[in-house]
Amino acid sequence: MSGLPKLDFPTLLALAQESAQITTECTCCTVSLESWNSVPLSLIEGNLQEIGTLLEDPFIDPTFAEFHSSGTRYDSPDAPIAPRYYPYNRCNIAKCQVCSRYFLRYTEAGGYFVDRRIRLLISERLIDAA
Ligand SMILES: [Zn+2]
Repeated sequence: MSGLPKLDFPTLLALAQESAQITTECTCCTVSLESWNSVPLSLIEGNLQEIGTLLEDPFIDPTFAEFHSSGTRYDSPDAPIAPRYYPYNRCNIAKCQVCSRYFLRYTEAGGYFVDRRIRLLISERLIDAA
């Protein structure tokens, strides 16, 4: 497995708040990533560096249960980011080396496909749900 450090909720929140201060335009935000998306072609992945993970324990399969509050769905732009729930519980956190924004990333694996997905880490969406 990866040797990425596990990020706790306060750390995640601090990164999201730092990210929120950034207003520079960048290739990582030509497509809105406020909700989950397949990694867009416009995004230069070489600019993203993984800095941590939300995976609690690499030996236990994380739950597929999702956490939603007010009628949001998986791909809603206002869907909560709850680190203990799907798909956040299997995400890595990546930092854009150009603009310093932070992103959540994971790989959605189906029977015949692998889809790499990305969402901007937004502080207002973070919920420390147990
Ligand atoms: Zn960027």
